[in-house]
Amino acid sequence: MFLIKQLKRGYNDVLNILYPRLCLSCNNVLHDTEYNICHNCLANLHLTNFDIKQNNPVYNRLSAIVNIEKATTLFVFDKTGIIQELIHKLKYKNHQKIGKFFAETARNYLTENNFFNDVDYVVPVPLHPKKLQQRGYNQMTEFGKNLENYFGVPYVENILMRHIYTDSQTKKNAFERRENVNKAFKINNPEKYVAKHFVIIDDVITTGATIEACAETILNNIAGAKVSILALTMVL
Ligand SMILES: [Zn+2]
Repeated sequence: MFLIKQLKRGYNDVLNILYPRLCLSCNNVLHDTEYNICHNCLANLHLTNFDIKQNNPVYNRLSAIVNIEKATTLFVFDKTGIIQELIHKLKYKNHQKIGKFFAETARNYLTENNFFNDVDYVVPVPLHPKKLQQRGYNQMTEFGKNLENYFGVPYVENILMRHIYTDSQTKKNAFERRENVNKAFKINNPEKYVAKHFVIIDDVITTGATIEACAETILNNIAGAKVSILALTMVL
C-alpha cells in the first residue's frame, strides 16, 4: 500500500514538472492546495451575492426595461481586476477551462439559492454565424454545458439566433444601438417552447441592450415564456 502511494506521488510529481498546473488568471504555477485559481487571484475575485440580496442592482436595472423573473451576476466587476482577465482569456484566447470554473462557481453558489429551480432551458446570447466562424467558438459554450451537467437543465444554442450582423456599435448613440440590437435576434420553432422558462447567459453585461433584446425576443415570440438572466459580471 505504502509503495503504491509513493509511486502515485512520484508520478504526480513528474506530471507537475512536465505539465505544471497554472493559475487560470495569472499563469503562476499552482501549489498543491490551490485549484484552478491561485490564492492571490482568488483574494481579488469577489462574489456579488446579488441573488440573495434584497436590493439586487442587476435585477433592478434589467427589470426596469424588460419583464424578467430573476437576474444575477457571479462576480463583482472590477476594471483592472481578475474577472476582466478571466473573461478576456475565455472570450479571445479560447481558454475554455475558465468556462468550467465559472460553472463550478455557479454550482457552489446558486444551488442553495434555487436559482435554477423552475428553469427549463439555458441559452447563450448568440453570436452571428459570421462572428462565430471568425472566433471559432461561442465563449459561453463551456459555461453552458457545465451548467447543464450541474443543474440538469438543457443548454441549447439553436433556440435564440442572431440573424443580423451588428459590427462595431461604438459610433451609434444609445437609442440607435438599442434599435439595432432589437432587430438582431429571432427564435427557431417558437411553438416548441410555449410557457417555458429560459435563463439567458452572457459574459459581461455593459449597457444591457443586447441581453434585454434577447429577453424581449423570447418574450415577444414564445407564448407564455419566462426569462431569467445569469451573467458572469456586469458593469454597474
Ligand atoms: Zn493567480
